[in-house]
Amino acid sequence: MSDPYLLSIDQGTTSSRAILFNKAGNIISVKQKELPLIYPCKGWVEQNPEDIWADTLWACQAIMTEHPDKAKSIASIGITNQRETTIVWDRETGKPIYNAIVWQDRRTADTCADLKEEGLESKITGKTGLLLDPYFSATKIAWILDTVDDAREMAEDGRLAFGTVDSFLIWRLTNGKRHVTDVTNASRTLLYNIKTQKWDKGLLEIFDIPESMLPEVLDNCADFGLVQSQHFGRVLPIGGVAGDQQAALIGQACFAPGMVKSTYGTGCFALMNIGDTFKKSKNRLLTTTGYRLNGETTYAIEGAIFVAGAAIQWLRDNLNFFEDASESEAMAVSVADNNGVYFVPAFTGLGAPYWEPEAQAMICGLTRESTKAHITRAALEAQAYQTLDLMDAFVKDGGHDPDVIRADGGLVHNAFMCQFLSDMLDKPIEIPAVEETTALGAAYLAGLQAGVYNGLDDIAERWSCARAYSPDMEEETRDGLYDGWLTAVERLL
Ligand code: ADP
Repeated sequence: MSDPYLLSIDQGTTSSRAILFNKAGNIISVKQKELPLIYPCKGWVEQNPEDIWADTLWACQAIMTEHPDKAKSIASIGITNQRETTIVWDRETGKPIYNAIVWQDRRTADTCADLKEEGLESKITGKTGLLLDPYFSATKIAWILDTVDDAREMAEDGRLAFGTVDSFLIWRLTNGKRHVTDVTNASRTLLYNIKTQKWDKGLLEIFDIPESMLPEVLDNCADFGLVQSQHFGRVLPIGGVAGDQQAALIGQACFAPGMVKSTYGTGCFALMNIGDTFKKSKNRLLTTTGYRLNGETTYAIEGAIFVAGAAIQWLRDNLNFFEDASESEAMAVSVADNNGVYFVPAFTGLGAPYWEPEAQAMICGLTRESTKAHITRAALEAQAYQTLDLMDAFVKDGGHDPDVIRADGGLVHNAFMCQFLSDMLDKPIEIPAVEETTALGAAYLAGLQAGVYNGLDDIAERWSCARAYSPDMEEETRDGLYDGWLTAVERLL
């Protein structure tokens, strides 16, 4: 038998991609299409599900056409996706009845506020680990049912199906034979009880959603269905599925309690493996299912920083400080320190652990000596201060004090940012050899299900470090810098 390959579908907010991996976890080929966002009015964010489907199909087919021999040896397909994004479709026609409502969409803010006023948040958090926020799927589904003509009656007749993007793609790839999702995607709907690992009747009642709409929830490695031959020229199994951040946790092989992965892209998402016991956060972090294998659940705590690389984009595009984000590094190291300048990049509110949706960004500590180098440095330093805020909250919530942080995302190409992160956290930072950790995580799951890998240990052994940064800063300097940040955040709040 020739070497097995794994095809990973990575359906993200900004693009739909397919990546072919070999067994060693190396990338053989990537195909991708940018996916436009639709903004029908302020705070609303949608995507066309037919684009999501067509682009995903195109990316997979393009890889198979380019590598016909390797395509014959694909052992299994893995899917990872933007989480929470909500699609409702008609089971008879297979057509969505409304656009995909994207996770960023805020249209259901009032519904969430009303439910909070009824005192329901604590109960909901106790079951789901999440906060009562428009971000998650439940209120988006209810909005579709209450807005689209006849939708509620159709749902009550069992004609409508709900799914996150993974579920919708699987439905289409299997020609409607399977309506399934995985536990990590289910965990982000506000309808799934992550303690009992079941759809929760009480939650369905609160959000007024008929149970018949929901997909069956499977482990991350499972028989998700067979892709029908018309799509890729032959029948192929879908063996692994996970939401994007959880897939990255797996791609970074964070399999032991206390291990952390932190992704610095447009925003930053940090997840810490907390083992097999659910813990409710006291610091407005999220508790979520990290993964479930052979029916055994591993939990994670999650913190989101809304603006990470987006702050660098803002300096580039709005202030014209540089033409390319990578120039920010030379600019930051052209000055010895921040000279008292702090940049709190709360352009879209402050995320964990503050959760202040109304907060606005601020640059403070400016003097006549301040230059764009100081402001750029402050933007990069902010990544580290925000991560330290999160790590403190993780530890207060009963997480472990991590030994090391495994980082990925576009910003880790900035060596200044990585070193400063290591200095502020006083921990080593490791950057993996394969940076596409999200797609790799999905491929690993598919490979586990297909028997390409023997277990998590087999995967953990394959993780390899491309670059590492060690802390190299006096405690006094670190404390002084962080105090400056905390003062800046206090002023802003
Ligand atoms: P996403 O997956 O969210 O689209 P990426 O992981 O591709 O994001 O990271 C892109 C972000 O990283 C951009 O916001 C960009 O400004 C930032 N970025 C990329 N390279 C650098 C660099 N060398 N220095 C600073 N920021 C960078």
